[in-house]
Amino acid sequence: MAEPDLFESENSVLAHAKAVFCDVDAGEEAYRHTLGQLISYYERLMRETRRLIRRSDREELEMNRLNHRLQELAQELEYRATHDTLTGALNRGAVIDLATAALARGSLALIVLDIDHFKRLNDEFGHPVGDAVICGVTACLKDTVCAEGAIGRVGGEEFAALLPDFALDDAMALAERMRAAIADYRCAAPVERAITASFGVSWSAQGRTFAHAYGRADEALYRAKRAGRNRVEQAFA
Ligand code: GH3
Ligand code: MG
Ligand code: MG
Repeated sequence: MAEPDLFESENSVLAHAKAVFCDVDAGEEAYRHTLGQLISYYERLMRETRRLIRRSDREELEMNRLNHRLQELAQELEYRATHDTLTGALNRGAVIDLATAALARGSLALIVLDIDHFKRLNDEFGHPVGDAVICGVTACLKDTVCAEGAIGRVGGEEFAALLPDFALDDAMALAERMRAAIADYRCAAPVERAITASFGVSWSAQGRTFAHAYGRADEALYRAKRAGRNRVEQAFA
């Protein structure tokens, strides 16, 4: 089917004006009539053009607003997919992805820690207080590690710190500072007692897997638990 001619009436006025222009005998009356027609169509075209420009400006603004909102939603989605809702720390999936990427690039020191006797705290004070303690411990970890590494929540009351290209001794010293920060942290009433956590630290060379790094750090963590808790243990090489 042929496309409809959007400028059908304008084309016919133009064709008529061209015919009058070429006709040397057209006469004054025909010239005046044709010129009048051209003026009226020209003015209508200008009005329409202005209206279309205003509409296109409005639509461009709306499109920019929607684009901006889309970017915000994409960022929000990315954040939700990679962060734990309670603490804002990285979630387990993001920890695995980051550690895997770090091990592909270089070495990785990994600290894993687990809050001591947390079940008792939940049983005694209830889950909301337990949640507040988990958030308080996360804050201690973030304050201690600062920009040196990333903190993730890998289980209920279990965390990991990823330290790319860190020496084992430096990671051990950082874990010790984390341990001390948690032991010094005082939760709001009704929890009056100190909170402690046990730590395991592993160092893995480039090319190792996350499972290897995590397994060894976890094994060291359970040695720390068996040795009396509130302490840092190093994984065997
Ligand atoms: P240990 O010193 O050996 O680590 O003892 P524990 O009591 O800390 O260890 P256990 O694994 O027995 O208990 C962990 C508890 O953490 C059990 C579970 O109810 C609780 N928990 C897991 N996730 C959450 C959470 O999101 N909020 C709260 N409040 N409790 C949680
Ligand atoms: Mg525990
Ligand atoms: Mg646990």
